[in-house]
Amino acid sequence: MNVNTNYQNISDSYLFSTIAKKVNEFASNNPDKKIIKLGIGDVTLPLCKVVVNALKSASEEMGVKETFRGYGPEQGYDFLREKVQAYYKSHNVSLGIDEIFISDGAKSDLGNILDLFDVNNTVLVPDPVYPVYVDTNTMAGRKIVYINANAQNNFLPLPDKSIKADIIYLCSPNNPTGAVYNKEQLKQWVDYANENKSVILFDAAYECFITDEDLPRSIFEIEGAKTCAIEFCSLSKMAGFTGTRCGYTVVPKAIENGLLNKMWLRRQTTKFNGVPYIIQRGAEAVFTQDGQKEIQENLNYYKENAKIISQTLEKHNIWHIGGKHSPYIWLKCPNNMTSWEFFDYLLNNVQIVGTPGSGFGVNGEGYFRLTSFGSRENTIEAMKRLDEFLK
Ligand code: PLP
Repeated sequence: MNVNTNYQNISDSYLFSTIAKKVNEFASNNPDKKIIKLGIGDVTLPLCKVVVNALKSASEEMGVKETFRGYGPEQGYDFLREKVQAYYKSHNVSLGIDEIFISDGAKSDLGNILDLFDVNNTVLVPDPVYPVYVDTNTMAGRKIVYINANAQNNFLPLPDKSIKADIIYLCSPNNPTGAVYNKEQLKQWVDYANENKSVILFDAAYECFITDEDLPRSIFEIEGAKTCAIEFCSLSKMAGFTGTRCGYTVVPKAIENGLLNKMWLRRQTTKFNGVPYIIQRGAEAVFTQDGQKEIQENLNYYKENAKIISQTLEKHNIWHIGGKHSPYIWLKCPNNMTSWEFFDYLLNNVQIVGTPGSGFGVNGEGYFRLTSFGSRENTIEAMKRLDEFLK
């Protein structure tokens, strides 16, 4: 037996373990100080009532012989695929139901999709970004090239014709920066991908935070995207499904004359046995009128938190982006502090925990991520402390 030696090339993720270590150390030395965590990427509000009711009644069905369900379709039940189809339609995107695949979340599919691509493809990844794209490709042994996201390009890099890449990752609204591509910018990526016969893996896990009608929530709003893009979506941040697990991936039939769609179906039917019926009924409820109203209330709650954070940063002239169409606020560490220096500064002085930008790539050095996923009380308290400290 030989192990996959590519795993030796994955850099150990010390980011969250180092944060936990520093926080624990501080807490044990300062038991009287209350630490506020604004670093996590997990939601804190519970599932909506309509979702809980749907989960309950689906559970009841499973306990009755006549309505019990065993194995379901690997690609998802039609009742949910139809709802996702209608959701896209409401954003002016027409999809065939067989282009929509229900999954247990975006992370799994972002990794699993790589089964469809040869190991000799070159991968283009923006830096900084969600670390899963780099790690999954490193595990497979693919060559990765980076494109710089920085203050000069508002953390929205555009295609560079001198770089040849076969698989391109785009994440908009972005984790960690909260930056969102507009239609013209995405069109440049779509044209580049079509010209180069590349595929764009478009991570739209945070699309639900977009409120500006002119900003694209889906890459398929862009002309030409159906011949070059695959889109990954998730109910995690949209509806608090981080622990419940459901998402969907769109593989258009227009790419490679339907080959990738066919291969993905084959891959899923071979290696995946579908999302639980109960969970899919809960997900279905998210897309009902009541569900959409209830999740919007939660999203507005997080958005208000983001506003509170942004206002405080603005008051103290701390450069930042994000927060408006994203749960993430990306700020430049004041006084040229490094990301970790600023982490220690916040923890020691005001007991706020955030995420050092350097954990998301080399261009993240000197930057810092705060999230709006905390409670309102904690967000207000954290910003009050920061405001008073910086006075
Ligand atoms: N994509 C991005 C950009 C994320 O930040 C996350 C989670 O934080 C995911 C995907 C994973 O989402 P899911 O919970 O659906 O697996």
